[in-house]
Order: sequence, then structure tokens, then C-alpha cells
Amino acid sequence: MSPNQYTHNIVIKNTDETLFNTVIEARTSITGYRELNVNQLDDSNSKQIIIPGLINLHSHLAYSQTKLKSQSLFPWISQLVEIHHMGEMELPSAALQGAQEALSFGTSFLVDNTSHPQDSIKAFQESGLKGIIGIEIFGSDPKQATQILEHNIEQIKQLKESTNIDLTLSPHASYDVSAQLWQLCLEWCNQNQVPLLSHLAESTAEEAWFQNKDSEQAQSAREFWNKINTLETKLENWQSYPSSTQYLHRHNLLKPFSLLTHLVHAQKQDLELIKAAGLGIITCPRSNLYLENGLANYQLWHELGIQYGIGTDSKASNHDLDLRKEANAIPGLSAKARFALLTNKAAGLLKRNDLGSLDIGKAADWVVLELQDPNIDLATADPFELIMDTEMTIVKEVYIDGYCRYK
Ligand SMILES: [Zn+2]
Repeated sequence: MSPNQYTHNIVIKNTDETLFNTVIEARTSITGYRELNVNQLDDSNSKQIIIPGLINLHSHLAYSQTKLKSQSLFPWISQLVEIHHMGEMELPSAALQGAQEALSFGTSFLVDNTSHPQDSIKAFQESGLKGIIGIEIFGSDPKQATQILEHNIEQIKQLKESTNIDLTLSPHASYDVSAQLWQLCLEWCNQNQVPLLSHLAESTAEEAWFQNKDSEQAQSAREFWNKINTLETKLENWQSYPSSTQYLHRHNLLKPFSLLTHLVHAQKQDLELIKAAGLGIITCPRSNLYLENGLANYQLWHELGIQYGIGTDSKASNHDLDLRKEANAIPGLSAKARFALLTNKAAGLLKRNDLGSLDIGKAADWVVLELQDPNIDLATADPFELIMDTEMTIVKEVYIDGYCRYK
């Protein structure tokens, strides 16, 4: 058997199709692209479940070695920036460690946000992880919008000479980026057919800031911006909006192709705007709890038919990068629905037909889960309950483009 083959008991091709006793392998297509091939096989005794590679839609690998205590968003960011400025972060090794940890939990594709894209590129290349890297952009002064954009585009041009990993722009948050700069980012992303990445409506402090700059609830945000000398510019350009989402809407910035993360404090009318704009949401429930933001109103999301996927955010605001645990933190969903969030739904948000399911011609990204209880009969058990149970099944191997990247 070639190293790219694997015998097993079940292959979960997608949420609606399960195969028994099948060989899975990567073959090289005429164009040189290694794609998936699936063949029936007669016999196998081992207890494994093969699933598509999981998709982490939001992280910051550079913070993988920074352990910060659970606290509210702005004091947390303040501490993060302090540690960063003291030069205490080993960013290249942290990014690589994060990529390897993500892989060990079955992630084959990850959307990273960073101010140090060269470290992420190296981490992706060395670990074999696939994904998109968004360069974090800050700039509240509209007069500097063009200059900031041009600087970042130049950086991407130079990076592109040494990698074919997708690079994009990640305007950090609506309170950190002028509408002019956001518009320029959006135009560039559309021209280059990559998603614009951003954080939105993560905390009560930022929503309070948009409504009333002097409000008590926004104090922690003002204190942090004052400390890093950005408060003055923000105050000069401040206008009142009902919410951060409304700010984007009124500047005509809620547009595809954008991947907006968190929306924990989005109100019903905000979510309706997101839906009407044809946008999906990325949610990071355990990170939201870690930063004392609470959980999003998932019941309302489901009622409104919001499309969403899952990210872990960084290890500086989470216990680990275990995507299955992240999905299990969302209340009121079946195991199958949770699995869909990590696979086909995530691929849909990325507009990537080749990811999130296993079939001939798709990306050869798959995960071998090993069943921990030999007495379970795979022929009768609910495979999704087993897949999403992190005690019952553990990640044994991860293949990306047909190459084993974790064992
Ligand atoms: Zn984040």
C-alpha cells in the first residue's frame, strides 16, 4: 500500500454520505495537483473514522506561546501589547507551534490574522498547514488611508515572491480603521478575490464606544487607546452610530467578500444587515467566554438563518486550538450540525468547493480519527456523535494535499 492510502472502517464524505471499508488516496492530476481518490475495499478490522480536514476560520498563530489570564477584552489587549513591546514574544517559533497544535487537532486549513505575515508563511510552509494569512491593518485617521493601504500592498507584493499561500488584508476592527481605509481594503480584496477579514461586535465596550464615546462602559477601551496614543485620532473622527455593524452599513462597507468574526454583541437589526448583505459570521465561543464577552445569541442566529463557521481565536484567549471543542461549546446543535460547521459550512464561507468534504477531485485533506472504545460497532453507531466526542475519538493522522502532516 502506498503511504497515501489508508484502510479504515468509515469514510465520512460529507454530512449526508458515509462509506464503509474504503481506500482513500491522493493521486496527481494531469495539472500536477494532488487530489483525492476514493475506492471501495473489501476488508478492514481497524476502528477508524476518516473525515475531511477541519477548517479553523479565525486564529492568530503568533500568540501561541502567550498565556494571558481570562479577563475583559481591552485590559487583555493592553497586556498583550505590553508583552509584545517588551520583546518577550518569540513570534516565529510561536507561529510554528500554533500551526503544529492546530494540525494535531485535525485542522488542515486555517485563517490566520497577523502583523507578522512572514512568520505565519514560514509556519504554514514548515508544518504543511494550508490556509489564508490576513495582514492586520490599523488606521483611524482617514487622511492616512491611502498611504497605509499602499504600504501593506507593497508588503504583500514582496511576500508573494516567495510563497503562493493566499495573503489578504485584515482591518483589525471597525473602531481601529477609518471607513476610507476599510473601503480601500475591500476594493483590493475584491480585485484579488480574497476575503477581507475583521473582528466585529466582540465586546460591550466597543458597542458602547460607537453609541457614546464618553460612556462608562467604553472606559476600558478609551484607557487602552490612550495608552497606545491612538485615542486622540479616534476622538477627532468620532461620530455616533447605534452599533459597530451599523457603522459599517452606513458607510456601505458590509459587502462580500468579508469574513467577520465574533458578533457576540450584535443586535437583531445588526444580524439582519449581515444576512441581507450576504455575509457569513465566524464565531469563537470559548474565546468569547475567556474574554468575558459571553456567548453570542445562537438561537437568534439560527432563527434568522445566519450562515456561520468556527474559529478558535488565539491561544492567548483560549485554552487550546481544538476545533471540535470549540464547536461543542455552541449550545443547541446536533453533533452532525457541529461537524458541518467545521467542514462544508466553513468551506462555503470561504467559497472553496474543494474543501470541507471528501470526494474524487477534491483536495486530498483528511483526518484519521481513532476510536478509543473497541466495543463500539461502527455499523450501528451515530458516526457524528463519535466524531465530535473528543474523548471517544482522537486525531491519529492528518493528511494535507495527500501528504501526512501529523502522526
Ligand atoms: Zn481574533
